[in-house]
This record gives sequence, structure tokens and C-alpha cells, in this order.
Amino acid sequence: MKLVAILALFSFHISAYANCEARGPNVILLTLDGVRNQEFFKGTDSFHRRKIARSQRGVVFQKFWKEHAQDGVVLGHKNGHKIASQVAISLPSYQAIMTGHATDCRNNHCGQVKEETIFDRLQAVLKLPEKDLAVFASWQGMKFSVAKDPQNHQLFIYPDIVKKDSLPKEILDLQEKAMSDLPSWKESRKDHYTFEMGINYLEKFCPRVLYISLVDSDEFGHADDYPGYINSLKIYDDYIDRLITSLKKMGAYGEQTTLIVTTDHSRGEALRWTSHGYDDNSNKEVFLFATGRGVKKVGREKQQTSHAQIKPTIEYLMGLKPQGEVLPFIDIK
Ligand SMILES: [Zn+2]
Repeated sequence: MKLVAILALFSFHISAYANCEARGPNVILLTLDGVRNQEFFKGTDSFHRRKIARSQRGVVFQKFWKEHAQDGVVLGHKNGHKIASQVAISLPSYQAIMTGHATDCRNNHCGQVKEETIFDRLQAVLKLPEKDLAVFASWQGMKFSVAKDPQNHQLFIYPDIVKKDSLPKEILDLQEKAMSDLPSWKESRKDHYTFEMGINYLEKFCPRVLYISLVDSDEFGHADDYPGYINSLKIYDDYIDRLITSLKKMGAYGEQTTLIVTTDHSRGEALRWTSHGYDDNSNKEVFLFATGRGVKKVGREKQQTSHAQIKPTIEYLMGLKPQGEVLPFIDIK
């Protein structure tokens, strides 16, 4: 009886990820909107200490620093990693990440990206089947950064609801539930729904390219809600841990996958923490973490790097000729 149960479990495990085994290389990009280096590297800000219970002060990304940071490279320590756009605003920054350089976008209303993005190029060169490239985003503005023509990709971006028979019930349900449980801010759904959809998709479809874009952190920042901001970051800490744990369970697929985590911009200091934008240079100093296939396990590094290197890095990892400089400590040989 016991043996039968064990065999049943074993065969379930094989079938759950069997279609993933021979797939790769793969890249997962995770962006967390408007997260400061202060909270990422150091922890809660002493300027805001009265807003946070004593027991909640200190390191925010606890699991990350304890269990994952050393298994990859962390850039941005001592302000060594900068965004690629000229302004520290979301859409200009996301467009710069996607195209590999600053575009002419200066605000969140500049419209559709006009140049080829990383997803456009990957699809054009690799001719990926539709299910192999998926984008999950909480903020509707992401539609203007990920592709020249959003119709060409499988995008799960608020407020659109993707209805396809091939999608698991969980993802269909999460899309619907998100619309009846909207956050207090506009133009987005809650990150909870976006992330659960994304990780569900990862485990079901083993995509070659997956992008999950989250935004709660920035909204709590604009609302001057420091405890809410810190809480969203602690949830992101869990999300990073869950992605890495899932990949470890996914056998050869996981081993063939690189995870990149970053933010689109930082925010102001002290009382100015609620905003970000045109003047403040510190808003452009951000963090980036990479782990998995092709990433050296060096932990924190101080090199001068930039978001302009994300696109070439993904190209290099996916076997394309990189159109620009690849991030340091990334080597697939
Ligand atoms: Zn913002």
C-alpha cells in the first residue's frame, strides 16, 4: 500500500513538470515598483521609525539576505547601479529596461513604446510559441512598455482579462477576482492576484520568458503609508523566495532558468520619500539581483552598472547576440 502511494506521488511529480524537462534556456524578470535602496539593502528607515512597531524594524528582505543573496549577484550596493531613463518615473524607466536605452518618454502618459523591446526581439528571433512568453502586470501602464504592438504577445495586464480554454481555472478565477477586489489606487489590480497568476503560469507552462511586474510598493509610497510600503516589501521578499523555491522543484527547467529582480526607480529621502521624479539624482540609484543559470554566486558587488544592460543580458542568456553590454558576473560558458 505504501509503495503504491509513493509510486503515485512520484508519477504525479514527473507528470506535473514532465513537459518542462527539455526546455530552456529561460529567463524570469520580476520588477517591484519604486523600491528604495534604503529598504532593500539596509532595512526600515530610521526617519520613519515611529511609524513602525519596534519588532518590525530592521532588515526588510529577510529571507532574501539570509537565503538567496549569496546564490547570485546583487548590484547597486554603494549606489553602483542606475536606471537607464533620464527621469525616475515608471513608464520612461520601463521603456528603457525593455529597449536597452532611454527612449523619448518623459512621463507616464507618453504612449506606446516606439522601438523594439526585448520581448519583441526574442519572439522575432526565437519564434516562440505563444504560451512560451507571458507578461503579468498589476499596473495598466505596463502595456505601453513591453512591446511595440501589444497584440503580438500574451499579456495579462490590468484591466484586460484573457479568456482561453488552455488557461488553468486558477488563472481565469484570479483575473476575475482581482476585478472585484481592486485597491484604493487607480489603474492597477492588487499585486497578490498578479503574482499568484504568474507563479501558477510558471508551474503549469514552464515558459521560456516570464515577466511579473508588481506595483503596490509605489502606491503605498505615494500615499505616505510607510507601514503599508514596508508590508508590501515583506510580501515581495516572500515572492522572491517562492519563485526560487519553485524553480528548485522544477528539475532541469529550473536549472536552465535565470531570475532577474529589480525596481524601476527609487524615491526621495526623508519627507520626500512619497515621490520620485525629475530632479533628484538619488531616485535613479537602484538595486538589481540575478540568480540561476549563468550567474556567478558572488553576493553584493559594487561595479557601476545600468538598467540599459538588462536587455543585452537577457539576449545573451537566451542565446541571441546581445545588442549592448551584458551585466557583469553573468557567464554561460
Ligand atoms: Zn510612482
